[in-house]
Amino acid sequence: MKIGTNAGHAGESGAVANGYRESNLNVTMNNALIAAGKQRGHTMINATTGGGYPKDINDAVSICNSNKVDLAISNHFNAGRGTGVEVLYCTGSTAGANLAAKVSAAIAKAYGLTNRGAKPRSDLGFLNRTNATAILIEWGFVDAPNNADVPKIIANPQTGANAVFSAISGTSVPTPTPPTTQFKVRINTSVLNIRTGPGTNYGTNGSVKLNEVYTITQTSSGTGANSWGKLLSGAGWISLDFTVRV
Ligand SMILES: [Zn+2]
Repeated sequence: MKIGTNAGHAGESGAVANGYRESNLNVTMNNALIAAGKQRGHTMINATTGGGYPKDINDAVSICNSNKVDLAISNHFNAGRGTGVEVLYCTGSTAGANLAAKVSAAIAKAYGLTNRGAKPRSDLGFLNRTNATAILIEWGFVDAPNNADVPKIIANPQTGANAVFSAISGTSVPTPTPPTTQFKVRINTSVLNIRTGPGTNYGTNGSVKLNEVYTITQTSSGTGANSWGKLLSGAGWISLDFTVRV
């Protein structure tokens, strides 16, 4: 999977409390996600440039969209004297809601935090304007009473990153359907051999006849023809030089 990740408030501070600066915490968690994703074979795109609001958000969106990521994740910490983790998603996105709920639960379990769950938002550029399914993780509160959240998280960022990926792998994130290459052809020669592979150097496996129509699922170069086509039936390949598209 190709995943774009972002450290929120790059180029500014974000929330500040208990000696923490949110933007620094966001970078820590973003780096942990990137490392955990690479370990699992994902292509990780760091959609963080800096420059402060709104440039950092505009940049994050355009990096995610131009890289055609399958999933976009922004890292934040909360403020407001609450406690626990919550994960925001774009209002109306079913895939976002499902993933946000799983990610929030997984992080809460991993760190022993309160699970505040999935929260829909319609006013956040990162969620609204990314083409992929997008979530924004509020890992914990910088100003939690008794400093209950942040120390647990930053003592082991990798624990949280692993929790995010366990949630992702247990969730079907919709991926674009690959464009179909199937097409139909009509045979325009009296008899045409079916070959077991794309070329006259392969053995024959029956034949097709004038004006019959077949579905081709794959094309290939090969000996003896400009182009070969694989029959949907699985019988083999025919020379497309003796066919017309229908
Ligand atoms: Zn924030």
